[in-house]
Amino acid sequence: MKILKIESFVVSQTLEEPFYFSQWEYKTRTICLVRVTADDGTYGWGEGYGPANLVKAGIKFFNQYILGMDALEHEVVWQQMYLRSLDFARRGVLLAALSAIDIALWDIKGKHYGLPISALMGGRKIEKIKPYATGLYFTRCDALKEKLVDEALLYKEQGFKGIKMKVGLGIAKDVEFTKAIKRAIGDDVELMIDSNHAYSLKEAMQLCNRLEDLGISWFEEPVSPEHYSGYRQLRENTSIPIAGGECEYLRYGFLELFKNKSVDIAQPDICAAGGLTEVKRIAAMANTFGVELVPHSWGTGVALHAAMHLISNLDSNPGRMYDAEPWMELDRTENALRDIMVEPLITQENGYLKVPNLPGLGVDVNEEMLEKYLVKE
Ligand SMILES: [Mg+2]
Repeated sequence: MKILKIESFVVSQTLEEPFYFSQWEYKTRTICLVRVTADDGTYGWGEGYGPANLVKAGIKFFNQYILGMDALEHEVVWQQMYLRSLDFARRGVLLAALSAIDIALWDIKGKHYGLPISALMGGRKIEKIKPYATGLYFTRCDALKEKLVDEALLYKEQGFKGIKMKVGLGIAKDVEFTKAIKRAIGDDVELMIDSNHAYSLKEAMQLCNRLEDLGISWFEEPVSPEHYSGYRQLRENTSIPIAGGECEYLRYGFLELFKNKSVDIAQPDICAAGGLTEVKRIAAMANTFGVELVPHSWGTGVALHAAMHLISNLDSNPGRMYDAEPWMELDRTENALRDIMVEPLITQENGYLKVPNLPGLGVDVNEEMLEKYLVKE
């Protein structure tokens, strides 16, 4: 079963309202999808996380080396792509292209054997997944705090058991906004904060000190992803769990996070850090170091389905009679590409997502929507 064709598609949506995080604003959502087709006609979908045109160029780069390889031998293909990129791109967007192709090969394998990816990975250990809402981004408006509180209450009403908010507006504003949101949602909904590496170690410590009593579930990307020891020093000085890893790549990158005792929660993006093949390895390593793993997930239903399969396969660590339920990130910002690009749509029941049961990823891309949002060359 040979790889016959690899096609990439850049899709883009202009947002009705731009949104901001601590670094810059988004006016569009642009994503690169890949479809890999085998010589028997079986095809699989994958997705890369990062600048879509660069991901597309990366997919084109790998094409020449993997066409004709066995589509079912995804580790062999992975290694070929890894070695072809190693001299130029040990980290970064070329690995998002590798990740996209890897996910598509898992999709093909699942369809070929008639099994969901979670089964191919060794089986699902849970049947439903607890998503947390990622939202509460900044917009330019006069009453931002009130707007964010309303948004948080909406997620609570929708049944989310956890909500992640953006921080990074400066310590005083962050404290004010975080307290207002926590007060509004109460103790039965967990609250995480994410600064997208907005702070120095000193500033991150100040913020932790002032939020220490609030019961924050984690502080994500508090400092620069380059500062492994800064992460560790922060961890040693706060009771708030520290999360990070969405800018980290491959098991070699995560090894640095783990060796440096930088995080309580590792957050590889399956569509960037090396695909399902590599993130399963990273998960095994996280488990070895006693670190929790909650993938960063952002993008279309292809990326979200890949995350659901992986999460359902994670070992609880440590195990106990009533295991903690693993989290899954569910972005709630305006994104038509996420909501309508795949079928079946992702639905949430009583605050949970059902682990997909169809062969492969368990979704197909809606060709009409693909055409509608496709960036024509
Ligand atoms: Mg983040």
